Amino acid sequence: MSLGWRNHSFYKGFQTDNALDFSKRSSFDHDVMLERIYPGRLILPMLQHYGDECVPVVNQGDSVTIGQCVGAPAPGTMAVPIHSGISGKVTNIKPILLPDGRMCRAVFIEGDRKRTFHPSVRPRNNVNVSASTVMGIVRDAGIVGMGGEGVPTIAKINRARRLKVKELLVNCLQSEPYADSDALILGEYADHVIMGAVAVAGACGVKIINILISKDRKNEITSLRSAMERSFSKYSGYAFNLIYLKPRFPQGYYRMVAKALYDADLEEGESLESRCGAVLFNCATVHACWNAISESMPLTSRVISISTEEGIRHNVQVPIGTPVSELFDTISGVRGSSKMIIWGNLLTGIVIDRPDMVPIIKTTSGIGIIAERNDAVAPCYNCGRCSDVCPEGLEPSILYKLINEGKQKEAVKFGVRNCINCGACSYICPSGIMLSSCIGRYRASLKNTSLSPFISVGDRQWLDDVSLLSADPVNHSEKRSAVSDSITLPFEGWESE
Ligand code: SF4
Ligand code: SF4
Repeated sequence: MSLGWRNHSFYKGFQTDNALDFSKRSSFDHDVMLERIYPGRLILPMLQHYGDECVPVVNQGDSVTIGQCVGAPAPGTMAVPIHSGISGKVTNIKPILLPDGRMCRAVFIEGDRKRTFHPSVRPRNNVNVSASTVMGIVRDAGIVGMGGEGVPTIAKINRARRLKVKELLVNCLQSEPYADSDALILGEYADHVIMGAVAVAGACGVKIINILISKDRKNEITSLRSAMERSFSKYSGYAFNLIYLKPRFPQGYYRMVAKALYDADLEEGESLESRCGAVLFNCATVHACWNAISESMPLTSRVISISTEEGIRHNVQVPIGTPVSELFDTISGVRGSSKMIIWGNLLTGIVIDRPDMVPIIKTTSGIGIIAERNDAVAPCYNCGRCSDVCPEGLEPSILYKLINEGKQKEAVKFGVRNCINCGACSYICPSGIMLSSCIGRYRASLKNTSLSPFISVGDRQWLDDVSLLSADPVNHSEKRSAVSDSITLPFEGWESE
């Protein structure tokens, strides 16, 4: 086992203008640490992941408990189950529209404030589990990429096995301003992140675990290094590397990671797995995997950052399905009236107007509350700042013009499909032009056409290959890499807290 340090970043985009160097982070109150809230009701959309909608497996009037499955995948679909994070009664099942435009059914639950757990949620006595057991646990716990992409984690593990990747990357970069939830997980649960990473590495069949972190995260680096040093003797056979990257936005995107670590500009349809031999998991995701393995706790809650312009910053452990309005009622100093509420992070999130009907879902890592802005939009005066900050090397002002003139083919020629919707161009534009919304909307409109953009997670193969949801590597050995199922993950001596 080794512990290594490297120092990387990507080159495009911010090279000529460091305006989006977020190394001076907004300060979150780390003394307050993790607050937990217990909402009175949940709205659980049946579509919280990349893939197909789940089917409700409860009926109106049913009682439910914490950890109970309320939505299950239909046969032959790309989906993982959805569980309740509170105990109470199902009051309704009806369609809702998510802020990102997806329509699906949702299970509405009224809490009973008793916090009764489902009998299946209990510490696992024996955590010396095999690779296929880890895969089954991760799938049945409904774990998906919690950094925002939402791909079922079991699908990513299976694809990593199939493509015989060599390295597991744990993404601790969270480079958006006013976002701090991953840092809190690293500070509080560094050991669990490492154990989750070992479990997922074992399931993927890789022996190298690279932990990617921004070099300004001093406290989290200390926590991680201590956890890694404690892991030396327990996880012999695994090589750990701590890799430092520059604190820049959007360093955490997989395409920026490919550029920074492997000097690879991913082409359309290429993924980190196929091009670089590496698979990337967010630190919140591997932490959720460890919770599922050690406590048999499915993905029912997550840490989110709540930030307001007044400087109120909280990291909150919140049951998935909590309506955004419940956060205002519960957290001191946070009110939703006469404000703009952003579902997601400040640069990439979506403005919502019905916080009582919009829930936190598995991929929501933050909520922003800012004063209403009435800045008049001025014409573009060709300052070039949007091009300077675009990490994909695009010309956002030209794309904006072409889209508004209806010149579809030209926009595609100028690389509109490569936009990762990071929001940097809108943020920097002195004229207040909402470049990224316009480009993002247009890019989304190309979906299902011959000009369809490749999605952030690589390609449409995910949707077409439901066998990626299998937790049985033995039955599919003809298609998958030859990873032995006799792997026993080295968790001897671990005790549930
Ligand atoms: S930053 Fe705004 S004003 Fe400057 S070139 Fe881009 S669109 Fe035009
Ligand atoms: S939103 Fe798209 S066009 Fe704008 S900076 Fe980000 S990648 Fe470039």
